[in-house]
Amino acid sequence: MKIKQADYVISAVGPAQYPTEGFPEIALSGRSNVGKSSFINTMLNRRNLVRISEKPGKTQKLNYFIVNGSFYFVDVPGYGYAKVSKKDREAWGRMLEKYFAERQELSAVVHLVDLRHPPSKQDIQMHEFLTYYGHPVITIATKTDKIPKSKFQKHKQIIRRDLGLKPDDPLILFSSFNGMGKEEAWRAIESFLN
Ligand code: GDP
Repeated sequence: MKIKQADYVISAVGPAQYPTEGFPEIALSGRSNVGKSSFINTMLNRRNLVRISEKPGKTQKLNYFIVNGSFYFVDVPGYGYAKVSKKDREAWGRMLEKYFAERQELSAVVHLVDLRHPPSKQDIQMHEFLTYYGHPVITIATKTDKIPKSKFQKHKQIIRRDLGLKPDDPLILFSSFNGMGKEEAWRAIESFLN
């Protein structure tokens, strides 16, 4: 994908703030610190479009980015940050429930997990939640530069098994440090844009 334009548009807390053009949306989800901001910046060839390592748990909104004037990346606030209060966690849950249950424009979800570790309970719950609502999920395993290549296959298998991915479900190895997987991730995303 050639990126001609990528801009922040709005932070939405609910449907009243969602964009209205009807452009397809690609949502991005994952636990805090998984490398989601870095993934978005890498994919959009921007160093600072999404701020890396903002105080985790602080961004409790759906951040919309318009790409090439034709589709949106929707950055979903990360989960799994221990210091978030029960009240904030519940508000987060309601906002996501609403978005994933009702948003017609949502074309696919990029779900990020860390290649180094087995999926957490919350990673597994998030995957179940997304598939429950019938959304295509593109699973991306991040930070591949942090482990030796000899371990890739084994770690991939663990992620596939724990998330319950089917043989045809995509699992793409990615590194925002060396660009691994960028083209493959774009091909997967593009297959859901039309
Ligand atoms: P987010 O909380 O999911 O948005 O994660 P960030 O993109 O802010 O990244 C969290 C931390 O992981 C930062 O210190 C990043 O520099 C680091 N990081 C993100 N992606 C990668 C990667 O592909 N490789 C390595 N080695 N570190 C990464």
